[in-house]
Amino acid sequence: MRVAEVFRSLQGEGRNQGRPTVFLRLAGCNLACRWCDTPYARAGGEERDAAWVLDAVREIAGPCRLVCVTGGEPLLQQEYLVPVLAALSREGFACEIETNGTVPFGPSHAHSAITMDVKCPSSGEESDLSLLAALGPDDAVKFVVADLADLAYAEWVLAEHPVRAEVFVSPVYGASLAPLVDYVLEQNLPVRFSLQLHKLIGVR
Ligand code: SF4
Repeated sequence: MRVAEVFRSLQGEGRNQGRPTVFLRLAGCNLACRWCDTPYARAGGEERDAAWVLDAVREIAGPCRLVCVTGGEPLLQQEYLVPVLAALSREGFACEIETNGTVPFGPSHAHSAITMDVKCPSSGEESDLSLLAALGPDDAVKFVVADLADLAYAEWVLAEHPVRAEVFVSPVYGASLAPLVDYVLEQNLPVRFSLQLHKLIGVR
């Protein structure tokens, strides 16, 4: 599989925000979001086999037992990823996959929680909303919002596609927070408002 990087940091968003986490970032993406914060992972990467990936995770993990597979779009390499996830699960790692919601979760979901990043209008891209039905209570939905139009879109999505997963709203770094907070409160949106910790602490 094509790997962009393996590193350890604090999880910046979602259900495990703030927890020490090993990040396995796979290279390659099928979207071109306007505010993409990992353009270096949209292509390229180094070709690595499963044994290399497992050794890299073990070496960097120490006592940490949480792995986040991110990208790029990691599910584009699902065929190679599933055996890695299965091995990590057997070794006691809890895994989560951050996906842009354009690729079915497939067999990866049996070994990993899913965080589906639902693309909002400001991104210039669109997720497959039919995938939301496959999410369960251990999964998460994330809307990265730049403005009120994005927030209104998130509200519409949640009304049209009720989900069992926990829902997070994360403002784009640098966005004006007050109007977004006011909207969440006024509409009593069923979301958790979350700042992107990795931007605040200086992690990519
Ligand atoms: S899905 Fe993620 S990696 Fe791909 S372009 Fe969008 S933000 Fe960048």
